[in-house]
Amino acid sequence: MDSVDKYLAEVLAAIVPLASHEVALADTLGTVLDGDVTAQWPLPSFDNSAMDGYAVRAADVAGASADHPVSLPVVGEIPAGDTASRAIEPGTCIRIMTGAPMPDGADTVIPVEATDGGTEVVSIREAAERGFSVRLAGGDAQPGDLLLSSGTRLGAVHVGLLAAAGRAAVRARRRPRVAVISTGNELIEPGTALVPGQIWESNATMLAAAARQAGCDAHRFPVVRDDTDAVLSAVQSALSGADLLITSGGVSMGGEHDVVKAALSTLGTVTFRKVAMQPGMPQGFGMVGPGRTPIFTLPGNPVSAYVSFCLFVLPALDALQDLSPERIAARPATLTKPVHSPANKRSFLRGILDRASDHVTQVTPLTGQASHQLASLARANALIIVPEDVTSLAAGAAVDVLELP
Ligand code: AMP
Ligand code: MG
Repeated sequence: MDSVDKYLAEVLAAIVPLASHEVALADTLGTVLDGDVTAQWPLPSFDNSAMDGYAVRAADVAGASADHPVSLPVVGEIPAGDTASRAIEPGTCIRIMTGAPMPDGADTVIPVEATDGGTEVVSIREAAERGFSVRLAGGDAQPGDLLLSSGTRLGAVHVGLLAAAGRAAVRARRRPRVAVISTGNELIEPGTALVPGQIWESNATMLAAAARQAGCDAHRFPVVRDDTDAVLSAVQSALSGADLLITSGGVSMGGEHDVVKAALSTLGTVTFRKVAMQPGMPQGFGMVGPGRTPIFTLPGNPVSAYVSFCLFVLPALDALQDLSPERIAARPATLTKPVHSPANKRSFLRGILDRASDHVTQVTPLTGQASHQLASLARANALIIVPEDVTSLAAGAAVDVLELP
């Protein structure tokens, strides 16, 4: 049996990052930057007003107070978007709106609240330091400043910053395209009537959703019967549009019904193995097709499939985008109840992490730890790790937990 760490290391060593492309701004959300993005223009690109008010010379309103207001003639108005070149003479002012360019000759903006709001002549009740309420060109970033570093997964604010910096496209690695295929004669589509012996297919739906949640474009294929040729042709048809394939089921240690194993032994370089973990012991990974597309053959039990996805597929998806795989953070917690675990296997037990208590984080193992019990996985927000050499832990023991995405 391979250890979890050895298997993961093998997977990551085999993944080749996707090529990067010019990606149009509107499509950048969730992609990973390839190359730093630096400012080409100052941000903001011109001196402008931070307030609605009056652009003045600070020296002209130096003595202003409520008791001794200063009156200045108002020589015009500058709305945001005004691109004309404007100037004021000493002893005058101009009405100015937030974001409008500062006129030459002015160095300060007096907010409208500190005035009587006059349009011909304005009475100003407050003095201000030179530069007050003026947003200087380059005050957020100067040309050449680093805005976003290579390897950033672009979120909403990053995309906003690219737009603010005037970038219509950037070089990035696209969201990985993931295809999910489930196998099993017992599987039928949700929404159709069951007869005893059948179950509603859930893994492909769940794994495609998990891949989407991780920022991928994921596609679920129709259920494939337990037939080697059917599996082969589904894998082959999924290959063209996918950067990573996932199958579920058909890889247990049980022989002739393990059709995924049988099919993939004739295609590509997939190796099947036992990994010293629970749930999720039977695992297969390799490369298939002309593009050497990575494929994970996950076990069919839904909890095994999901835990395997979190432990192995998520890091592989990161690696495809040339990110260091560290998406699921382990954190320390204290067990509130005893747990048991088989010898020589790393257990991932479903638990509820009490995120509210800041000082001592407690985790409560759930009842229902069998690998078909998806309802208990849905109640969990964390996986409690019990190391290979530990078979039981008492209440109060210190453990590491993985917070579920
Ligand atoms: P297998 O790995 O194909 O031997 O399946 C192991 C267990 O997982 C069996 O109880 C299957 O019925 C169940 N199973 C396999 N595939 C799925 C699926 N796509 N959705 C829900 N349960 C599944
Ligand atoms: Mg099966």
